[in-house]
Amino acid sequence: MLTYYIITFGCQMNKADSERLSFYLEKNNFILAENQFRADVLIVTTCGIRQSAENRVYSLVHQVKKKNPKTIVVITGCLSERKDVRSRIKNKVDIWLPIKELTSLVPKIKNKISNPLIAKDYLSVAPKYESAFSAYVPIGNGCNNFCSYCVVPYARGREKYRPASEIIKEVRGLIKNGYKEVILIAQNVNSYHSGSIDFTRLLARVNDLPGDFWIRFVSSHPKDISPKLIEALGRCSKVCEHVHFALQSGDDEILQQMNRQYTAAHFQNLVKKIRSVGRKYKPGLPMAITTDVIVGFPGETRKQFLNTVKVFKATKFDMAYISQYSPRYGTASYQMKDDVSKVEKKRRENVLTKILSQTARVNNKYYLKKIVPVLIEGRNRQGEWYGKTRTYKLVRITGTPVNNLAGSFGLVKINKVRDLSLEGNIIAQYE
Ligand code: SF4
Repeated sequence: MLTYYIITFGCQMNKADSERLSFYLEKNNFILAENQFRADVLIVTTCGIRQSAENRVYSLVHQVKKKNPKTIVVITGCLSERKDVRSRIKNKVDIWLPIKELTSLVPKIKNKISNPLIAKDYLSVAPKYESAFSAYVPIGNGCNNFCSYCVVPYARGREKYRPASEIIKEVRGLIKNGYKEVILIAQNVNSYHSGSIDFTRLLARVNDLPGDFWIRFVSSHPKDISPKLIEALGRCSKVCEHVHFALQSGDDEILQQMNRQYTAAHFQNLVKKIRSVGRKYKPGLPMAITTDVIVGFPGETRKQFLNTVKVFKATKFDMAYISQYSPRYGTASYQMKDDVSKVEKKRRENVLTKILSQTARVNNKYYLKKIVPVLIEGRNRQGEWYGKTRTYKLVRITGTPVNNLAGSFGLVKINKVRDLSLEGNIIAQYE
């Protein structure tokens, strides 16, 4: 019997892909190894969004092959189809596996030859879920948008969506097994379609399944968030009061250069509508808005950056993932001059981080002295329980009981707020 180990970099979609790989390998009698150095087969689910993540893959593959040259190294994910990556580490990689060819992995391992036949759609392979109470459920894969800085359309190909019946079946199974949180994922959930079912209808169908569970979804593209979907966020009681969608820049010219196909005003209008629907249907918790932003895109002047600052201040995000632009091989912006210095990119990142800390803290003050439901995830290094609210706020639970709370809901009274987290004590626990 062969042993395997998987190391995953990057987004939730990659994590979901790794869960499917685990299940597929174990179904084919592979056994999980203790670590990467003891595995017969090491699979690296790669991310090409940032250079730092890419560099970690190079160093990992190098270390593993040095220690155990017989390990079969499999590269899947974003980097698996990149020509420059293939040539850079060709001597250290045994199998390149675009994720849509997942079901050809075992024959490839056995023969170590390419098998062009794809037995079935990889998303229909069942996953081995990492968590026993929260699951990522991919509803599709790939992207048609070609944002000028992004490798995803090249790495994952064009959009392909799972049939709604298959998604519902997977969610139903999770709920039956006691799962408390279902996260629907795709590169752009808003363009989901399966026959006559669009994302709004899919969300409503998942919401209608019986059981006490929360629904989240990522990622949303601002150009595709429809009024119908915003209304559904309010009407579907199980859908959490949290929307994550990427601003990327607050400057219209930069957005155009990024090929994002919306304006800053459109983004802000969406935020306004989402918050207003939240107040109307779910007044108990303020709708949390989180985002992604890139600073130092080629040609971004200080004046253009100040437009992002303006949108940042006005929107009052609850969380933002701020990245410094780094050119990705094969993308349209790779041809543009990366002309904002590293120092200036760092400065812009710091400016936005400071605003984020202030706005998130102000938003968090709402929670002080309130009792909120929290899905408890585990213990931190100090042994304290922690979890997340429906609004995706991290909550540290102090003075907690010794019994196991992981995977249960708790009612937590918030008695302290920080910039990016809350703190409180549990007053009730329920399944
Ligand atoms: S929407 Fe843009 S940033 Fe998101 S995956 Fe597609 S191309 Fe990449």
